[in-house]
Amino acid sequence: MFVDQAIITVRAGNGGNGCVAFRRELGEPKGGPKGGDGGDGGDIVLQAEDGLHTLYDFRGLTLWNAENGEPGGAKQCTGKNGRDCIIRLPPGTLVFNAKSGDLIHDLKPGDRVVIAKGGKGGWGNEHFKSPSNQTPRNADPGEPGEEIELRLELKLIADVGLVGKPNAGKSTLLAALTRANPKIADYPFTTLSPQLGITELDPERRLVLADIPGLIEGASKGAGLGHDFLRHIDRTRVIVHLVDLQPADGSDPAENYRVVRKELAQHSQALAEKPELIVLNKTDLFLDDEEKKIAIALVCEGLGLVPGRDTIDISGAARQNLRPLLERLWRLVHPEGHSTPGWKPSASTDRHDGQVLN
Ligand code: GDP
Ligand code: MG
Repeated sequence: MFVDQAIITVRAGNGGNGCVAFRRELGEPKGGPKGGDGGDGGDIVLQAEDGLHTLYDFRGLTLWNAENGEPGGAKQCTGKNGRDCIIRLPPGTLVFNAKSGDLIHDLKPGDRVVIAKGGKGGWGNEHFKSPSNQTPRNADPGEPGEEIELRLELKLIADVGLVGKPNAGKSTLLAALTRANPKIADYPFTTLSPQLGITELDPERRLVLADIPGLIEGASKGAGLGHDFLRHIDRTRVIVHLVDLQPADGSDPAENYRVVRKELAQHSQALAEKPELIVLNKTDLFLDDEEKKIAIALVCEGLGLVPGRDTIDISGAARQNLRPLLERLWRLVHPEGHSTPGWKPSASTDRHDGQVLN
């Protein structure tokens, strides 16, 4: 399970103090008590908001305050209530009491819950008037607002899974694209746990990427991937298949591609059927454009691909062409409204069985 997590402290507003005041008017030197009540403190409200998918925004934003109520005033003036603090969260967020570990709320779409109540405003002295006490000099202080430390937890689904031979540059690319690494729950096969990151095209467009190194590396060692793992990975929407254009071991990039496709099909048919973007990596290794073009053409020819249409070339280490890569990925993950189709491996081609097309 991939879990995005944040710990925040929420502090509802304090109630305003009640006021001690007396009517002082011409000809009425001993007027009655007129101190107003304090305003109520603002609540902390959690609100489920569609379109939010991560807890990314909570990094570094750990303290959330609602406004305090204003104190009461003379002449029966009630203090203004403090404004609520609305915290917008992705639906599906689990809200725990960080100290006790208790689940307080499981945020469903459309939910709006008060998680910490603002303090009530204190009564002004007017409230304390009684037949035996016409001049009360006491007023209530405002109540303190509730304060709780919350642990927010959200299960993430990786939009994009990175596959490729060892040393294709998956870890490097993930590090170049993402700034945050949510917690990854322990799998029994720890060494096969994917790395997860969130990349931001702009604040409205974020992608969750998972490096799936274990698939091939583990498989070659005979390690199983486990049903839990596959179940989560199977929900990945798009595969980035990273191909080293110039492997240090002298192996053939096209052949490497086929090996990985074969392993994919063997280990997760669902994953193998996902739309795939073939990303030709390490373009920085070529001294000039011509040399690069030839290398790309060779790989594409070997695999029956059209460069640029079925592939994109980048350098993860030199951070070249990463923006266009992200835009392509965004369109693949969100095909609604976009006419550019991704290249979808089809079960009917022999491309994935280790044979060359053409
Ligand atoms: P992984 O096994 O697929 O995760 O690959 P890594 O990200 O660990 O990279 C393997 C090696 O390739 C490391 O030595 C990286 O420094 C190197 N590498 C990764 N990306 C690039 C790249 O874009 N250009 C070059 N020249 N080297 C790269
Ligand atoms: Mg790696």
